[in-house]
Amino acid sequence: MSRRLLFVDHVGELGGAELSLLDIVDHFNGQCRVVLFQDGPFKDRLIERGADVLVMEAQDAFLEVSRESSAWSDVLAMPELAKLAWRLARRAKHFDVIYANSQKAMLISAMAGMMARRPVIWHLRDILSDEHFSANHLRIARVVANKFVSFVIANSEATRNAFVSCGGRPDLVRVVYNGIDAAPFDAISNLDVQSLCDELGLNNTKLVGIFGRLSRWKGQHVLLQAMSSLPDLHALIVGGALFKDDHIYDDKLRSLAREMGVESRVHFLGFRHDVPALMKLVDIVVHASISSEPFGRVIVEGMLAGTPVIASAAGGAMEIVDSGRNGLLVPPGDSASLQKAIQLILSSRTQAENMAQEGGRDARVLFNRENMVTSIREIVESVCSNTGRL
Ligand code: UDP
Repeated sequence: MSRRLLFVDHVGELGGAELSLLDIVDHFNGQCRVVLFQDGPFKDRLIERGADVLVMEAQDAFLEVSRESSAWSDVLAMPELAKLAWRLARRAKHFDVIYANSQKAMLISAMAGMMARRPVIWHLRDILSDEHFSANHLRIARVVANKFVSFVIANSEATRNAFVSCGGRPDLVRVVYNGIDAAPFDAISNLDVQSLCDELGLNNTKLVGIFGRLSRWKGQHVLLQAMSSLPDLHALIVGGALFKDDHIYDDKLRSLAREMGVESRVHFLGFRHDVPALMKLVDIVVHASISSEPFGRVIVEGMLAGTPVIASAAGGAMEIVDSGRNGLLVPPGDSASLQKAIQLILSSRTQAENMAQEGGRDARVLFNRENMVTSIREIVESVCSNTGRL
């Protein structure tokens, strides 16, 4: 049966959660609508793909609530939350299920689901721990999910375990790994890579790339520290400062590059839409998050590009990388270990090629987009037909 889905996300920018939702929305196109609480590039990408999108602009009082915010900010956000829930509930009546793609979206969807008597699925893409959230926000997420959400889809075991450890009901949650389309990677030819290399003026240089939003926990600074003892190495820093604090980190990174004397070898490219080509161009894709990554799309993407990957040994990254076989893991925040891992890959071509090959195979089998959407379709069907947990 064809179910109608109302997807909800509070973010207007393009982060990993939003890029993943793009693929899910594509699959359900014609039977879904996407509600966003913020205008921005995510809306544009959805529209380009032919999705039905509605932006319900939320007030800053709600959007700016963060881990650092006081309990008073939470209280001030409540009227906006109730208003959005009421508006969402009116729309939800025309759909079979509400599908929340972020924690803020889940809170509003839970309220709206109650008002409209519709089940709510929460695609959980965060590690619910005190590394990332305040105690108050963890409590709210746990209570609301346990009582008002019909199903939680966790994007990794790490995400699932954190949900359960913070008191989430184990019977509510199932892991569905992010699936990533290999086609944009397979479509890049050697000629494309060469012309990108010429455009960037980076011929005949050893090159690493780190991809993702500029944010302290993503650990771009760890790569810069590692580079100070790798004199010939250049690095692409690919990604933009998406949120408020990210701009401060962006400035700090540039100062750090100057202080460490690596400025001329570090290339800040900002947010790019040609990640597959850039990942094929570099010799190594580095993931350097200093705290647990919920999943880590960039790691799988590096594998799809056929490029050796080094990742931080925490969270979802440990479910993707089998260190020494399909990539390398290093302790989070340890620039000396990162430096050694980079040297190892650059000095051992055969080992690097073997790891890249294994990575490419694993990424295509284990993190396959079709598997992801098939599992999600089954979950939607199970929730809608109320046949109980899968
Ligand atoms: N990305 C992008 N352009 C950039 C930097 C990153 O399209 O300039 C994409 C990247 O390819 C990946 C996503 O952003 O698909 C980041 O996802 P990840 O799971 O690594 O991190 P998250 O944003 O979810 O924390």
